[in-house]
Amino acid sequence: MEAIDVTLATGNAHKVEEINLIAKKAGFNINFILPDGDFNPVEDGTTFLQNAYCKAKEASKNSLSDYILADDSGLCVEALNGGPGIKSARYADTAQARIDKLLKNLSHIKDMKERGAKFTCAMVVCDKTGKKLFETQQYCFGSILFERIGKNGFGYDPVFLLKDSSLSMAELSDDEKAKVSHRSKALSEVLKWFKENL
Ligand code: IMP
Repeated sequence: MEAIDVTLATGNAHKVEEINLIAKKAGFNINFILPDGDFNPVEDGTTFLQNAYCKAKEASKNSLSDYILADDSGLCVEALNGGPGIKSARYADTAQARIDKLLKNLSHIKDMKERGAKFTCAMVVCDKTGKKLFETQQYCFGSILFERIGKNGFGYDPVFLLKDSSLSMAELSDDEKAKVSHRSKALSEVLKWFKENL
């Protein structure tokens, strides 16, 4: 596969670095780059896939590359009817307050079997006209702990107990998380698509 640039529809340079690292490790000749100028998409979808497409379309305007990749992710808790879901980043004002609110809203549920949850990651690839070329949605299953455990990762990681494991997501190293996470599973599908279609 020839070397190509792909715009990652995000304002987060760390995300670009992380995805470049995963792609390089997997032997892909893709250079992910930030959108040109400010990036302020309106995310008015009702699903992760719709919101990922909103970001992809926004980044396709004035795109410096032929392809754009966008993602949208969040935590879906069974007992909260799938919430906070697409609102995961806005559930409360700070990362700490978001976890506190989640634990409080689940405090009446004492049985771990009833605290099931999944991280979800949607990814959409489109061309520079905004036409959708590929989409995928991947998951990482687990349940919500009663308190924080572990110091790694970000967001809801310290309260997410991985399925069939005794570890929280925040007890995994970056490399270990990359093997099981919703985001790396989705990226792996995207990279497979690039390999087969370019
Ligand atoms: P974004 O759409 O990728 O920016 O993620 C939305 C929100 O979902 C984040 O701000 C986190 O609160 C949550 N989230 C998504 N992925 C993860 C993860 O891997 N660990 C913990 N929280 C996550």
